[in-house]
Amino acid sequence: MHGTSILEEADRLMTVCNSCRYCEGLCAVFPAMEMRRSFSDGDLNYLANLCHGCGACYTDCQFSPPHEYMVNVPQTFAVARAESYAAYAWPHAFSGLFARNGLVIAVVTALSVAAFIFGFAAFNDRQVLVGIHTGPGAFYALMPHGAMAALFGAAFLYAMIALAMGIRAFWRDIGEPVGMRVDAGSLWQAIRDAGQLRYLDGGGVGCFNADERPSDLRKIFHHLAFYGFALCFAATCVATLYHYLLGREAPYPWWDAPVVLGTLGGIGLLVGPAGLFAEKWKRDPALVDAQRTGMDTAFIAMLFLTSLTGIALLLWRDSAAMGPLLALHLGVVFSLFITMPYGKFVHGIYRYVALVRYARERQQI
Ligand code: SF4
Ligand code: SF4
Repeated sequence: MHGTSILEEADRLMTVCNSCRYCEGLCAVFPAMEMRRSFSDGDLNYLANLCHGCGACYTDCQFSPPHEYMVNVPQTFAVARAESYAAYAWPHAFSGLFARNGLVIAVVTALSVAAFIFGFAAFNDRQVLVGIHTGPGAFYALMPHGAMAALFGAAFLYAMIALAMGIRAFWRDIGEPVGMRVDAGSLWQAIRDAGQLRYLDGGGVGCFNADERPSDLRKIFHHLAFYGFALCFAATCVATLYHYLLGREAPYPWWDAPVVLGTLGGIGLLVGPAGLFAEKWKRDPALVDAQRTGMDTAFIAMLFLTSLTGIALLLWRDSAAMGPLLALHLGVVFSLFITMPYGKFVHGIYRYVALVRYARERQQI
């Protein structure tokens, strides 16, 4: 007996697949499945998070609907994955935020942006909000650097603690004792597999869409979004070092490292999410978890808006639009931080942990 009906269904499918094994070369899921004869809840959550949803095993399967076995691994694992996000959420009282996730994130974002706009207006003279501020320290005419650093530092710290607690619950559930040392080789192998999106390729031909013509576009747009996010994060880290180590205040000239990194990352975060959004509408509805469309869309939209507002701030930072644009950008980024543990962002975290587990299992064969 399993804890939920979707895990019962996942167990049924893995039992069929373990007899068939036709798909064993497609991805990591099937070799990991073959290491087991029975499946606990944790095993199934591990396999569900190892699945990248490429759709190849559905298209290739001789037992997929309308066959009476009704084998649909991608959709079953998509639902199980989403349910696992809520199960591992910390604090558990917030697990309900994964239901109607699109609405939750839209409301939090709107409130965050409104809070920054009203905050800027309340703590400053109106002329400051719509005034022109240029040169080092211009942003801090609207909000003192100390207050900005404390607010975003606290939001980021909270997100990191909540994500770490989620990882702990997942690691415990999938069968690895918490606190057990993970060897560097497994961590490195998982970094390589995640960095290349090795298993988002349908066994080498690409992801499948409604027209059953495989394509690499989903992988390419995913790379753009991921590396764009990483570059933006690097830009923030460099700017922090500039501020505290070199005493240099933002905004920086266009040729300086934080702006170059942020601009390149911002382009990736515009093109990647826009492409993922377009690819999403091409996907075969049989492969996806239709109930979580809001969660997926909200995450893509948040990444896109983070970049769009950041680039708008860069372009118009020397004009009277700087104050309202800074409020908009800070509101979106603050919302991204505090909703990180309660939205689609966690898929990357749990998938990476599942890849670490898989690398360890492969070593032990
Ligand atoms: S998905 Fe279908 S073809 Fe692939 S292993 Fe399972 S039962 Fe066999
Ligand atoms: S959808 Fe792709 S990644 Fe997921 S189990 Fe099937 S082949 Fe593997």
